[in-house]
Amino acid sequence: MAKRLDGRLLAARHEASLRSAIAQHLATAGCTTCPPGLAVVRVGDDPASGVYVRKKAQACGRVGIESRIIHHPATASQQQVLESIHQLNGSPSCNGILVQLPIPSTLNARQLLLAVDPAKDVDGLHPLNLGRLMRGEPGLRSCTPAGVMALLDHAGIALDGIRALVIGRSILVGRPMGIMLQQANATVTVAHSRTRDLVDHCRQAELLVVAAGKPGLVGADWVRPGAVVVDVGIHRVPPQQQGTQGTLRGDVCFAAVEPLASHITPVPGGVGPMTVAMLLCNTVQAWQRCTAPPA
Ligand code: NAD
Repeated sequence: MAKRLDGRLLAARHEASLRSAIAQHLATAGCTTCPPGLAVVRVGDDPASGVYVRKKAQACGRVGIESRIIHHPATASQQQVLESIHQLNGSPSCNGILVQLPIPSTLNARQLLLAVDPAKDVDGLHPLNLGRLMRGEPGLRSCTPAGVMALLDHAGIALDGIRALVIGRSILVGRPMGIMLQQANATVTVAHSRTRDLVDHCRQAELLVVAAGKPGLVGADWVRPGAVVVDVGIHRVPPQQQGTQGTLRGDVCFAAVEPLASHITPVPGGVGPMTVAMLLCNTVQAWQRCTAPPA
């Protein structure tokens, strides 16, 4: 039976160390320094986004980050949203800016992400931060893949030379995940919707990170016995189908795969809490950098 990689537990540990890092930094920097601030820019009323934004705000509150939500109606113009990003870029009390995706299709999400000051880009989606990741330079990293790396590291999973398969190639998850694993010396294959013989790739993988956004895509017969299985997918289960695992499920058939994997992330309680924890880490990192006394 696989060992569960408990994202809730590890996220709580990160929160505890962030709480004390904030208190310590405030004490060292003096009374003129404000606590860290995170702004979430939300456009429209996507219900799942509402839940995520609330969870992020609650997590900020637990560690001592001041959060604010700038909520635009779905009818907001590109210019209006851009203006609020520009204001946040110039606001000293805002250290991190997150543009909550998805953005209504009437707007240009790419241009909005590009408008965020890279030093406040706590989602790690600005091209400058993605470029730094590509080059292996320090910078703000995408939260979900960074959360997966933290889970693997905490479980002591050796990545050196391991055969890893990432399913999904989005800018948000799959691509940065592949780069992070490669930088940890894994031998990485990134699969996507046009990959042929996906099952064969899966069966060879010693580490499987599934971020396809397809509920239950990976079943037991896709998984090599003893593999580490990380499920990034999140899907809301309609009430009549409940009884699987709470009201959420992932891209992996958890009950079928758990008996044969060596490690597995549950959904919920695996990658999701770690994504939020990494957002908090990035915000505190951005704050520490801009409030550090000059060398
Ligand atoms: P996306 O739709 O942008 O990308 C999905 C990727 O999967 C694409 O590259 C596509 O080519 C690939 N894909 C789709 N179907 C496939 C198939 N049958 N076989 C192989 N590849 C396939 O999605 P995303 O933003 O990367 O998110 C993926 C999933 O992760 C979603 O369920 C999303 O809700 C979830 N997610 C979870 C967290 C978290 O914190 N746990 C964070 C972000 C996204």
